[in-house]
Amino acid sequence: MRLCRFNDQRLGLVEGDDIIDVTAALDALPSYRYPLPSYDVLIANLPAVCSRIREMLASQTAAPRHRLPEVTLLSPVANPGKVVAAPVNYLKHLEEARADAAIHHQNQVGEIQRVGLFLKANSSVVGASAGVTLARPERRNDHEIELVAVIGKTGKHIAAADALDYVAGYCVGLDMTVRGPEERSLRKSPDGYTVLGPYLATADEIADVANLELSITVNGEVRQQANTRDLVLGVAELIAFASSFYTLHPGDVLMTGTPEGVSQVHAGDHMRASIAGLGTLAVDVR
Ligand code: MN
Repeated sequence: MRLCRFNDQRLGLVEGDDIIDVTAALDALPSYRYPLPSYDVLIANLPAVCSRIREMLASQTAAPRHRLPEVTLLSPVANPGKVVAAPVNYLKHLEEARADAAIHHQNQVGEIQRVGLFLKANSSVVGASAGVTLARPERRNDHEIELVAVIGKTGKHIAAADALDYVAGYCVGLDMTVRGPEERSLRKSPDGYTVLGPYLATADEIADVANLELSITVNGEVRQQANTRDLVLGVAELIAFASSFYTLHPGDVLMTGTPEGVSQVHAGDHMRASIAGLGTLAVDVR
């Protein structure tokens, strides 16, 4: 299933460019009391919600159709507990970052196996329709298209061989970045600097996550174009790595790193980030 969140906290089933409103399936969620869980409750209960959606479809109670390009798209994960990100996870991007002082700013750019992962503020997460408002317009601000895996169940010390069982689904992500000398977690955490969407494709929709074409255009010009087969650490290895340090929870977002071709964006630019099977994030820079 491809599920989006749209307009006024509606839940939608995406079929091509159509959206069927399946908000009523959220009635499958249990009720919670304070303190509320620190994970995303929709993702934690996704199997129950998906079976409710199948029931609605079978009984033809699923409701009005909207058009994907015409709705306000929210982040497919409303409340990620954490956003885990891979710093340099395509070799050609490592080479490009080391060669360009405007990217590395005298920060050491090391291999991911040595530098590990970083965290972005979960308050930076938005959907496509929010757009990206440049937080430091006097600086260089770059787009980074990334394959995003959304964790579906709690786990720690997950073996790489089992790791894909912990994925609820996948989406397109933009890891927006202010270049400069500060720590990555600061420069990549302004409000709106983690764009997710346009929808979540449940894991069963993606036959081989290690062979997905991805690309981003800015104002129609191709800037990054790659394939997830060139990831240094694949999704399973990243989950194993991350979970060897901390527990992963439902709704945790894993940004898998960006390929070569990162470049600057300016207010007024229009970005279109696409990954095979995961749709296109259409995002304005403000
Ligand atoms: Mn990145």
